[in-house]
Amino acid sequence: MLRFAPSPTGDMHIGNLRVAVFNYIVAKQNNEKLLIRIEDTDKARNIEGKDKEILAILDGFGIKYDEVVYQSGNFHIHQEMAKKLLDSKKAFVCFCSEEEINNERIKAKEEKRPYRYSGKCENLSSDEVEKRLKNREKFVIRLKKPENNIKFNDLIKGEFDFSPFEIDSFVILRADLTPTYNFACSIDDMIYDISLVIRGEDHLSNTPKQIAIRDALGYDKKIKYAHLPIILNNEGKKMSKRDNASSVKWLLEEGFLPEAIVNYLILLGNSFEKEIFTLDEAIKFFDLTKISKAPAKFDMEKLKFINKEYMKKIDNLAKRFGVNEIYEELLQIFKDESSTLKEVKEKFDKVFEKSTDEEFKNEREILKKEILENELEDDYNEFKKRVQNNTGLKGKKLFMPLRELLINEQHGAEIKDLYKVMKPYLKEVIKNR
Ligand code: GLU
Repeated sequence: MLRFAPSPTGDMHIGNLRVAVFNYIVAKQNNEKLLIRIEDTDKARNIEGKDKEILAILDGFGIKYDEVVYQSGNFHIHQEMAKKLLDSKKAFVCFCSEEEINNERIKAKEEKRPYRYSGKCENLSSDEVEKRLKNREKFVIRLKKPENNIKFNDLIKGEFDFSPFEIDSFVILRADLTPTYNFACSIDDMIYDISLVIRGEDHLSNTPKQIAIRDALGYDKKIKYAHLPIILNNEGKKMSKRDNASSVKWLLEEGFLPEAIVNYLILLGNSFEKEIFTLDEAIKFFDLTKISKAPAKFDMEKLKFINKEYMKKIDNLAKRFGVNEIYEELLQIFKDESSTLKEVKEKFDKVFEKSTDEEFKNEREILKKEILENELEDDYNEFKKRVQNNTGLKGKKLFMPLRELLINEQHGAEIKDLYKVMKPYLKEVIKNR
């Protein structure tokens, strides 16, 4: 089984969506199931409704999954496992106060060395532990750091080797008996029989800790790992909330199509023979192990190019936008010169707004009168000849105000094409201009 494990703590980041897409593809390739695990252990950071939003996004992107579980539903198992580790002496009860630990952290920082747990409570006698527990002293549970190095092979990044010092004796159960992130994650990967973890490289340093937990429990199945390189913005920095394009919701609101976004995210950091493909097609040729190790740069222009390709196939824009079918051809003209659906809709909406341009105000009035008072010719050239003759306007002074009358823009599609498709409702539009 593979899993996608989003935290319901904010808008879905494109990096997360990329992780979901790759998990979906590999699950299909390996004929394995895909589990969605909502990592809701950090109560303070959870945002109500984000879980449903994430699932809706996955549905909208065609990422099918077999099961959804909430990590908080497994707290009792996490606690049971912590107890098991205590009983087998792989974990210990730690009474060090938060203040004590913080002071040690500050000291380590001042001495420019990494903070490590002092080991103070590691060898307390069972009698002492019993006594202090009876006294209701606050405690956490720590996993004893492993005796040997933890090694693993990442399918994308290669070999890793972490020393016990790097892993340290870390907290697995907090004072309120909730599991820490690493503990919950490691146990859940074990109980759902996960075969391969595909996630962002920001989790790389968590991996040895998560392996150490399962090793201590005697779980001997080797879970494989693939950590995806981060996505960088234009300035070469990690794409963060400050970059609008990092939010999947924002991209959808901007009028990027789910198929185009998925296509782009699969392409990112890869090189294939073709650039335009569906998710199903990608299942046939995608190779997780061939992803570039280097961070991938988000390229808005490329995404726009891909979106344009997918927009070509849309022939029912009027229906999509919930407007009269009579406008379909006009929408198609706007589509040809736009990169996103939002752009198309903005151009379309502008057609029905009042003109505010002062430059050709007089010319517009002259042309408006001419058009409204005469019958419209079928042929654009005849129409143009008549309008030119009767108004005396020509060149820029004819075409710019004329385009303004039609679509409320000085520049844009060919007037000839616009005239042809707008003729049935042209007078209506111009009347309100
Ligand atoms: N919940 C983590 C995140 O959203 C993912 C953890 C994992 O995949 O192991 O970054």
